[in-house]
Amino acid sequence: MHEDTIDIAPAGELLENSLGVLHEVFGYDAFRGPQAEIVTHVGGGGDALVLMPTGGGKSLCYQVPAIVRERAGQGLAVVVSPLIALMHDQVGALKEAGVAAAFLNSSLSSEDAQKVEKQMLRGELTLLYAAPERLTTPRFLALLDSLQERGKLSLFAIDEAHCVSQWGHDFRPEYRALVVLHERYAGVPRVALTATADDLTRADIVERLQLQQARTFISSFDRPNIRYQLVEKKDATTQLLRFIRDEHTGPDGHDAGIIYCQSRRRVEEVAAMLCEAGLNALPYHAGLDGAVRQRHQDRFLREEGVIMVATIAFGMGIDKPDVRFVAHLDMPKNIEGYYQETGRAGRDGEPANAWMAYGLQDVVNQRRMIDESPAADEFKQVLRGKLDALLGLAEASDCRRVRLLKYFGEDSQPCGNCDNCLHPPELHDATESARKLLSCIYRVQQASGTAFGAGHIMDILRGKSTEKMTQHGHDKLSTFGIGADWSETQWRALLRQLIAREAVQVHDAPYNTLHLADGAREILKGQCQVWLRTLADKAPGVARGSRQRASRATVKNDDGQPLSLAERDCLEALKAWRAGVAREHNLPAFVIFHDATLRAIATRLPRNLSDLDGVSGIGQKKREAYGTEVLRVVSAFG
Ligand code: ADP
Ligand code: ZN
Repeated sequence: MHEDTIDIAPAGELLENSLGVLHEVFGYDAFRGPQAEIVTHVGGGGDALVLMPTGGGKSLCYQVPAIVRERAGQGLAVVVSPLIALMHDQVGALKEAGVAAAFLNSSLSSEDAQKVEKQMLRGELTLLYAAPERLTTPRFLALLDSLQERGKLSLFAIDEAHCVSQWGHDFRPEYRALVVLHERYAGVPRVALTATADDLTRADIVERLQLQQARTFISSFDRPNIRYQLVEKKDATTQLLRFIRDEHTGPDGHDAGIIYCQSRRRVEEVAAMLCEAGLNALPYHAGLDGAVRQRHQDRFLREEGVIMVATIAFGMGIDKPDVRFVAHLDMPKNIEGYYQETGRAGRDGEPANAWMAYGLQDVVNQRRMIDESPAADEFKQVLRGKLDALLGLAEASDCRRVRLLKYFGEDSQPCGNCDNCLHPPELHDATESARKLLSCIYRVQQASGTAFGAGHIMDILRGKSTEKMTQHGHDKLSTFGIGADWSETQWRALLRQLIAREAVQVHDAPYNTLHLADGAREILKGQCQVWLRTLADKAPGVARGSRQRASRATVKNDDGQPLSLAERDCLEALKAWRAGVAREHNLPAFVIFHDATLRAIATRLPRNLSDLDGVSGIGQKKREAYGTEVLRVVSAFG
């Protein structure tokens, strides 16, 4: 165990001071999960590696100690953040809460940058955000040296620390140079934070940033407010529209959400299709002009109810708390990616949906991409394994969350908040059909000396006479027509299940052909059973009449009761007021007040300033700045 070297105050006092800052500055009543332990450890001068899921509350883990240490005369905290585009809003949020913060990056004019440097040297700042490439310039290091000499450098926070690792998915070479912080300012505590959990990345962060002495804080990666739903892809865009209409549309518009697609072209198509359907959707991918991307991102952050249709290029560092759904129209590459992307929903802890449509074609495409990549064979094997794990999740008929957490090394109980828990699928024994399918694949290969793709195999099983059939004489096979009682959809579902169990492999050459794999043996020998979910087989559009509108239509108060009509009107008035303030300050609305804060106000109907005490999210500065205005808005509804 590592002994902290510097101690500014006993832990009890540190915790008290930290809690004081949490109430006074941020307006929250308690730390979440390991936050309390982290802020006291870092506040006391210890190094830390913080692994916490998105939405877990990483920012407070360095913001609170930064404020506590500044108040104790220890000077400035420097925050390394990779996303220039978001620094403005992060700093804006701190200023709204009354914290002296600023950022330095290439978006500033040189005069503005000099102004910030002066403030820094005069000790007028508590937190400074900087891009990694800026931080390691000789000019900036000289500024830090001068602060250090006067004992006015209190803390380094390295956000999105997985960027230092090439094993992570966002490798940024300039992060490597950050090791200088340890070498040059050995006594200054450092806290590195990431939402990427895997062991390889973690070890890399420790090594690259020289954090061997740091205490590691690992939170549960569970996101209980996110509901996982993975549906079989039929007509994906129709299914998506229905999902948005049923679960995320109310009388006053639709929720904010992110839709991930595989390719740029598909992003464009889907965005256009949603717009045509009357939704407020924008495309985002790396092929768009930088200015367009920035504008779309700004609109997503600043306006209410914007749907971003994007490739995986979108999302890192997006801290919009009220994204109510993340939808995948195509299957991602692996569970890490899926979890990272879905994690962008519901950062505010309110109910949110993670919805995915997947089909056999997705699996085939992903396999092909792996096969065609120039990577080494062992590496490809790892990638295939990761894809299989995701397919296993998609095909699962038990709790999705249990599987997800298990993948990250956590044991848990069925969650009650995923599709399989809420509507346990009906299963039937499909072992016999599985044998038919496997032997069909085998026979065909035996008879023809070459393998065939899924479509042809289905045709044989279902006894369809096609030209290809007669040409190869496959209508003479003993398996011809033995599965005529099943629809193609059923056969495909079974095939996916068999691929997930590694009984069948899809090979790239010849083109997408099916081959038996190791898992086939025990099924053919009758040593295990294959269970398949019974298909509900609802045609698209059938559920129209029975629309069960969710989140948007039924805004609930803290006790889970729907808001009254008057309360809803009040909430709308507060939102309109908030939008005006946000525009004036050039900040996203959630930086002024979260939805939950406005909702609490609308149900409480405060008459004087002291009634605002204890409303989560109203710190001292915000109460002073906006309290009177809020009372004025609310007074019309009292
Ligand atoms: P992360 O960076 O880990 O994704 P954030 O720091 O953005 O998460 O926090 C997610 C949300 O949770 C933010 O809106 C933040 O204000 C809120 N939050 C964090 N900690 C607390 C707390 N102790 N009490 C109430 N809200 C919190
Ligand atoms: Zn579940």
